Amino acid sequence: MRRLGAAAAAVLAAWAGAARAECPPGAGDCQALLETGAPGGRVDFVIVGDGYTAAERDAFYADAAAVAESLRTASTYASYAPVFNVWALFVPSPESGADDPMTGADVDTAFDATFGYQGIDYLIGISTGGVLGEINDRFPEFDVPMCLVNAPKYGGSGGTIAVVSSHPDAVRIMEHELGHSFAGLADEYEVPYPGYPPGDSEPNVAALENLDPLKWSPWVTPGTPIPTPIASATSLYEPIGAYEGARYLTEDIFRPAPNCRMRELGREFCPVCAEAMVLGFAELRALIDETSPPDGTAIPAVGPSPLSVTVPELADLDFVWSVDGVITSWDGSVLPLDPAVLQLADGPHTVSVTVRDETALVRSDPEGLLEETATWTVVVDSSLPPVGGAGGGGEGGAPPDEDPPAEDDADEDGCSCGSAGGPASSTGALAGLVALVGLFNARGRLRRRSAGSRSCPRRSR
Ligand SMILES: [Zn+2]
Repeated sequence: MRRLGAAAAAVLAAWAGAARAECPPGAGDCQALLETGAPGGRVDFVIVGDGYTAAERDAFYADAAAVAESLRTASTYASYAPVFNVWALFVPSPESGADDPMTGADVDTAFDATFGYQGIDYLIGISTGGVLGEINDRFPEFDVPMCLVNAPKYGGSGGTIAVVSSHPDAVRIMEHELGHSFAGLADEYEVPYPGYPPGDSEPNVAALENLDPLKWSPWVTPGTPIPTPIASATSLYEPIGAYEGARYLTEDIFRPAPNCRMRELGREFCPVCAEAMVLGFAELRALIDETSPPDGTAIPAVGPSPLSVTVPELADLDFVWSVDGVITSWDGSVLPLDPAVLQLADGPHTVSVTVRDETALVRSDPEGLLEETATWTVVVDSSLPPVGGAGGGGEGGAPPDEDPPAEDDADEDGCSCGSAGGPASSTGALAGLVALVGLFNARGRLRRRSAGSRSCPRRSR
């Protein structure tokens, strides 16, 4: 493990201080190393240590901070840091270090870490039950358990818990081991692992008999030879194909790319492995943290009332809002709902928003993990005073009785799409809603992507 220099530690501490809150009650000796939201709606990484004595407490937190920093900055991980929380729980061990049958070291530690697990020198075994029991007691909201072993020899392991030694490459090793424990990825290297059960169930390997169809076919450019000779490689990670050699074997099992973080330390995840990681993150994080106003809130019949969702700071979020089942062309986290513009009668109306992560890192999302929908009710009440003294048609909105212009389906970005699917009068009114974009942008309340990256609103998901 590279221990942080004083300057780097100060930067990290300042950054973490800006974003962090307190560890939950009951967590004991704990530090919040990265906090972006409440546990439960985030991917909660929880780090414990083994072989750190009470006197080595500061070293443990420094090592854990280096791991947190890599989760915040390393490729693939960095894109999803806005949905990560990283917590560290200190567990003192009676003695420092780890067992090692190669050297005869026999150390009394909290979780009994040992090198040479299953006869492989670099593989570290720990008491899985011990680690999970400790984390369950102190931080039951955990998603991803990790264990740092305070011994400098190169080593680690995946499985239920991502384990890594304090070797100088420890951070890079952890980025790899999380591929196993988080996304169920296979090793793509060919170093023998005697007795390892055969198979290709992991998302990043395919046996010879399973090359057609290839499980990662959305990533393969038509015309790429399958199997793919390594001479076809144009870069470390391209083209995606089926390269022989993976999962501790040199023959009859194939990997997606010439290289990958699951094949060689310090590389990036190949696109297929990156997709599996992103879907793993998506399974654990919320895309919608909160909705506002509360369900059943009464709003004035005239003037825009903001309806909003609070979302993580991910780069590629897309918003599709609908009112009474009619999809608007609005794309932002705040909908300025003006019942007069939409010709909404007094009484309850249903509003829903679908938030979708449009990341280019995923090409296949069969379980719909990249989107989330919230639906709630607002009650239009004409006895309430108008918002901001807006007139009957709303500021800049089309008068409610105006016929929709022929080019209603083109929004202000020139994005020509199908009709919103509602009655013609509603479609015209929704065009008026789009005209309110400038009003709310001026108030700085919206998160909107540039026109160049904007996609057409969709009718359904
Ligand atoms: Zn890979």
